[in-house]
Amino acid sequence: MRLDKLLANNGFGTRKDVKQLIRKGNVRVNGAPEKDPGAHVDTDADSVDVLGEPVIHQEFIYLMMNKPPGVLSATEDKWDQTVIDLLSENEQRFNPFPVGRLDKDTEGLLLITNDGKLAHELLSPKKDIPKTYYAKIEGRVTEADTAAFSEGVTLEDGFHTKPGILKILHSDEESEIELTITEGKFHQVKRMFEAVDKRVLFLKRLSMGTLKLDETLAPGHFRELTEQEVIDVD
Ligand code: URA
Repeated sequence: MRLDKLLANNGFGTRKDVKQLIRKGNVRVNGAPEKDPGAHVDTDADSVDVLGEPVIHQEFIYLMMNKPPGVLSATEDKWDQTVIDLLSENEQRFNPFPVGRLDKDTEGLLLITNDGKLAHELLSPKKDIPKTYYAKIEGRVTEADTAAFSEGVTLEDGFHTKPGILKILHSDEESEIELTITEGKFHQVKRMFEAVDKRVLFLKRLSMGTLKLDETLAPGHFRELTEQEVIDVD
């Protein structure tokens, strides 16, 4: 990687700023001043420092967000705020993107990363990654619904879903449930309830594979995954 790119990518300023730093002789590669911004550095083997401060190359970023309602899980949008708009410049310079989609009104766990390989694995239909949602449902959710979901239900377009595990937390005029599914069709949870003539009033994702929503994160807040979370999710 070019020396100026390495510094800019790792928070030492804009390309213009870092070029100046380099030309002034403030940057060393393996202990020797390097004044050429275009010099090639091997990010695995070479050690680089700026005025003695080591440059630690970070290629990937992994963020867990508690997505708030009203924000799109997209990278950019003409009209609406996106989850990427909620990040600071420091995180945005990694060009991260949300892994999968939550509806605009859905809340909860969203993984945001620039690791395309990991995203692909998590979203691959072949991997059957379980996703658990908490929902409030209009009307009484019954054991008949649990039984129907355990067989998979037929959506309005004729698609028959894989089995889902429906746990009834509270059944009343407004019910509370947890549903675990292994697919990610458009509006899947809402459409599965429509298939049993019920309406989702509130939806929040709690987990995705091994990754669980950190409930200390307020809606709209995010944090980096711990090393262990990254290892487990990979
Ligand atoms: N199912 C839905 O209906 N909406 C979501 O946002 C996620 C799953």
